[in-house]
Amino acid sequence: MSLYIALVHHPVKDREGATVTTAVTNLDVHDLARSARTYDVVSYFVVTPIAAQQDLVERILEHWRTGSGSRRIPERSEALSRCRCVPSVEAAVEAVREREGAPRILATGAKPPVGRTAMAYAEGRAWIAQGPVILLFGTGHGLARELVDRADGVLAPIRPGAGYNHLSVRAAAAITLDRLFGDTV
Ligand code: SAM
Repeated sequence: MSLYIALVHHPVKDREGATVTTAVTNLDVHDLARSARTYDVVSYFVVTPIAAQQDLVERILEHWRTGSGSRRIPERSEALSRCRCVPSVEAAVEAVREREGAPRILATGAKPPVGRTAMAYAEGRAWIAQGPVILLFGTGHGLARELVDRADGVLAPIRPGAGYNHLSVRAAAAITLDRLFGDTV
């Protein structure tokens, strides 16, 4: 299995659909790192082009990798050890390419993709078994259209027909990982 995940802060949409850059939140860094480690994701990329935000992420990682946090909660340190901050999705793709070859990119979203068929989780699982895949999660109001269009596939939304569909990215990432690799009881 060779899955990577990326939490994308640019390019993402705002409420009006314009392309914006969102701020990194500490909770997202920690929560997705814990989910990624639980499902044995190879690396978790936090994507932000803003230098000050990159510094913030590096400070969080430093605290939990070698600082007092690593001594206080070693399990958290282990989760964050797989987290990396990169300036763009392209940089994340390049990091995977250097490690094991060019990855395929899978986008996610709360609504079915426009003009293309949403991918079933079984097919997503097959891609991951065949070679490296980066699974993109958005912030704000979702991944920008340009990023979704560039992706090699778009995973089917969670509960697209539900009347209320406003999962946090933390919940959506956990559900998605469990649908891909969850325990089949
Ligand atoms: N309305 C936004 C959208 O269409 O994606 C929800 C944004 S939500 C705050 C941030 C991210 O969580 C999304 O970009 C997507 O990666 C994930 N997400 C949220 N709801 C989801 C759903 N129902 N199915 C799959 N992913 C979802």
